[in-house]
Amino acid sequence: ITSKDLTQDTLKTINDSEDTYNAFVTVNKDAVKDAEKVDADGIKGSLSGIPIAIKDNILTDGLLTTASSKILSNFMPVYSATVVEKLKAAGAINAGKTNLDEFAMGSSTETSYYGTSHNAWDTTKVPGGSSGGSAAAVANGDVVAALGTDTGGSIRQPSAFNGIFGIKPTYGRVSRWGVIAFASSLDQVGVMSKRVEDSATVLSTIAGHDDHDSTSSNKEVPDYRANLNKDMTGIKIAVPKEFWHEGTNPELLKQIDATIETYKKLGATVEEVSLPTLKHAVEVYYVIASSEASSNLQRYDGVRYGFRAKDVKNIKELFVNSRSEGFGDEVKRRIMLGTFALSAGAYDAYFKKAAEVRTLFINEMSAVLDKYDLIAGPSTTTTAFGIGDKIDDPLAMYMNDILTIPANLAGLPAASVPAGLADGMPVGLQLIAKPFDEQTIFNAAYALQ
Ligand code: GLN
Repeated sequence: ITSKDLTQDTLKTINDSEDTYNAFVTVNKDAVKDAEKVDADGIKGSLSGIPIAIKDNILTDGLLTTASSKILSNFMPVYSATVVEKLKAAGAINAGKTNLDEFAMGSSTETSYYGTSHNAWDTTKVPGGSSGGSAAAVANGDVVAALGTDTGGSIRQPSAFNGIFGIKPTYGRVSRWGVIAFASSLDQVGVMSKRVEDSATVLSTIAGHDDHDSTSSNKEVPDYRANLNKDMTGIKIAVPKEFWHEGTNPELLKQIDATIETYKKLGATVEEVSLPTLKHAVEVYYVIASSEASSNLQRYDGVRYGFRAKDVKNIKELFVNSRSEGFGDEVKRRIMLGTFALSAGAYDAYFKKAAEVRTLFINEMSAVLDKYDLIAGPSTTTTAFGIGDKIDDPLAMYMNDILTIPANLAGLPAASVPAGLADGMPVGLQLIAKPFDEQTIFNAAYALQ
């Protein structure tokens, strides 16, 4: 099979399924041309000729990049993110840009300017978010893999909701250059796929140091796929009791318990631990993430990028009207929350306090990981919820992230692995590892496949 055939087939599949899932904001019309070029050049890289979808908050040179916001609805990047350049160098074909919650703020894709995406298992349900388009695209078979970003769970939660594998690497493992910033101390690009092997290949391809991102690590990038192995003997797994908290769907927990039993049978040891600060994780995250977002989003002023309000009388009105008309409600809520938390009178009580509690939490997690190889638990407290169920209740939506936020606050690698069904909907097991130990996560996920 040539890449051209494969890419044509992929575009047709996407075209046929878009009415159902709305997984893409933009399909790459040049994909077939790109594939012809790869065919002509011969197999050069690890992803030669393979179509991959890219979340639409990752810049693609000459291909519309919107972050699913009206304010960037006409934004054409003049360069590509490092991860996109790396995929291209490995021969991958950019299939198109996937839908997300506006600026990756949300857990359902319902805040997208382009409308919600739909869960691949039940189209009346959300696909999760913010990388919901990537999850729906992979789960319904449009592409074998997609890039997502994860600031507080945006790769793992939609992966769990759609029954696929999704990994958020260690903070610094992957360059953030050219990734539209939401919360810079938490954001990280990762991969979603049905098969663990495919995410392993893609992560090895996109990881590594980048001169454009001083937070990217110099650590050597392993060949995760070549190193895959299913041996769980001697692997020490910690299960934090707070991850089994009341209110979590009991059917979902049954699947998680059964999966952890499987690990025991495969030779792992499992022990209960405690992460007492987990109960504050959501508050800490929403203060820090919103503060960083309020600062990062200052650049959208109607002058430099994208949408510009019409009929304005002066520069102030240009700023105010462009932002008022260009941002959706959730983004405005975060900007106001963040601006407040950083303001002179509130900084000590909110931002500084949140940063202190974050440190406590980091210490708690590292103490556990000093003794264990993996932390395991559910990725989410529920399976995919109905479209419309939580969108008018921001606090319920925020609480939904309680189990995924810890790994971002501590910068740790974490994944969601398919772990059966509860009430007919997919369940995700979350695995968190030591910094830069993505391999142990891949292996443990592979052991279940
Ligand atoms: N749901 C979380 C939020 O809304 C996380 C989003 C993300 O990881 N990008 O902030």
